[in-house]
Amino acid sequence: MPAFPQPFTSTVSHWQATNRGPTSLWNHGRDAPLPTKADIVIVGAGVTGSSLAYHLTRPGDVGEGKRIIVLEAKDVASGASGRNGGHVGPRAWDGFGSLTRSRAEGGAGLTNDDALDIMYFEADNLDYVESLVKKEKLNVDFWRGNRCDVLTTEASVQANLANIETYKKTAAASTKHNGRQTEWELISDPREARKVSRIKSALAINRGPSGSWHPHRGTTALLRLAIESKTSTCEFFSWTPVNSVTPSPSGWSVDCGGRGTIVAGQVVLATNAWTSHLFPNVPDLANHVIPYRGQAALITPPTTYAGTGALEATMGIERGPYLIQTPHSGLVIGPYNATVLSEFGTPKDLFYIEDDSVVTPKFHDWLSTYCKDNFEGWGKEVKGEGNNHDWSGIMAHSIDWVPLVGPVPDMPGLWVSAGYNGHGMAKIITITRSIAQHMKTGKWDPRMPQCFAITKERLRAAKQCKPVIPLQSRL
Ligand SMILES: Cc1cc2nc3c(=O)[nH]c(=O)nc-3n(C[C@H](O)[C@H](O)[C@H](O)COP(=O)(O)OP(=O)(O)OC[C@H]3O[C@@H](n4cnc5c(N)ncnc54)[C@H](O)[C@@H]3O)c2cc1C
Repeated sequence: MPAFPQPFTSTVSHWQATNRGPTSLWNHGRDAPLPTKADIVIVGAGVTGSSLAYHLTRPGDVGEGKRIIVLEAKDVASGASGRNGGHVGPRAWDGFGSLTRSRAEGGAGLTNDDALDIMYFEADNLDYVESLVKKEKLNVDFWRGNRCDVLTTEASVQANLANIETYKKTAAASTKHNGRQTEWELISDPREARKVSRIKSALAINRGPSGSWHPHRGTTALLRLAIESKTSTCEFFSWTPVNSVTPSPSGWSVDCGGRGTIVAGQVVLATNAWTSHLFPNVPDLANHVIPYRGQAALITPPTTYAGTGALEATMGIERGPYLIQTPHSGLVIGPYNATVLSEFGTPKDLFYIEDDSVVTPKFHDWLSTYCKDNFEGWGKEVKGEGNNHDWSGIMAHSIDWVPLVGPVPDMPGLWVSAGYNGHGMAKIITITRSIAQHMKTGKWDPRMPQCFAITKERLRAAKQCKPVIPLQSRL
């Protein structure tokens, strides 16, 4: 698998194509000389690295009076953060089932309280992102409303009912969370489900709070605020791949090949799908994060689904895509892994892939026809409507379904935040708030689920998880 520099040229997403003006940060610091010393180096300028830089550089925060360097192998948001579905969607009830299901059955095998921690953390992330956008007056197309998770098979409807019951009982009994419940509701009448979702095969809907934004503009805006901080010095260098991070007498030596070497007391790897390359000698960590490729498309709908006909909710459709309605351009949609595997693909179409220079033709065909085949009254697409733009992007599968966040065991001053299983925007900005808090106090921020922490025991135990591709078929 290729590390950086990559031997290919990535596809360009809708988000990357619509943030090219003077306030964007393309090529920023590309040719500037690198400093040789810093207090904190962040590797990776996706939403993890950029929002961490933002949090570190707030007045009174740990970066005050310090020098913070952000190094990015390509451009800002050139990875998953600039190529995703734009959805900032906390988990619904069904999340509880998959988080608590045993590892042997492909779940995360978490305790009830750990699962609730994650669900409420994601719910709080949405509130936090909304408040941040308002506070900083970010021009990032932030939208808040509802998401409809549409169920289309009888088996899922039944499983969902059981899931809701278990979730509600467990949540009510949790003293840790004072009986807190999520704000989700069930639409169980199939006629109502069809009317609300406009999906022909809808049988039921879980409906609850959600959000969306322009992820390339969001990531860029947070990094720009960090660079403009008056209380910290934050510098951003694009097109600066990090080859290795090794211990040095004053902390960590960050080798950027011909660009130079920076020594820093603290280094944070915000490298998501590419994290393994920086841990050649720590196999338990390197093998914990598996790159996988996703694909998304911008669908320009016919006028039946524009203006007064535009969708009012973001959606996740069983055996179908996730999708958001953008404010101006149409729908951004992409297939869930489960959909790929049940409808038209194999694990080899997804996992252990780091190349985002191509779109997979069968994904393209499916994305091009899904809306017209499945939405009521979609109608005929004329030239210029339909799928005019699709792209791919690389995500990080954490083998135990939980992100790796915090200090790396036995490597003081080295931190990681990675492995969000294609669901990072639902939690990253609150994660990086907590990392900044941890760096300031020296203690785990209790607002963040403890199960995100990287421990040797966790890394060892994760090897029991069901592999996404069995070893023998990977060879
Ligand atoms: C098609 C697709 C659809 C998605 N849809 C959604 C969605 O709707 N909702 C949701 O919540 N999540 C979604 N995701 C997942 C979400 O985008 C990610 O969880 C999130 O963007 C991860 O952010 P990140 O900053 O950690 O990683 P990235 O954005 O991938 O950033 C990592 C950065 O690190 C840089 N880097 C790596 N190694 C090095 C190195 N050695 N030196 C220097 N730089 C390095 C990379 O170039 C990259 O820019 C989707 C992802 C994809 C690909």
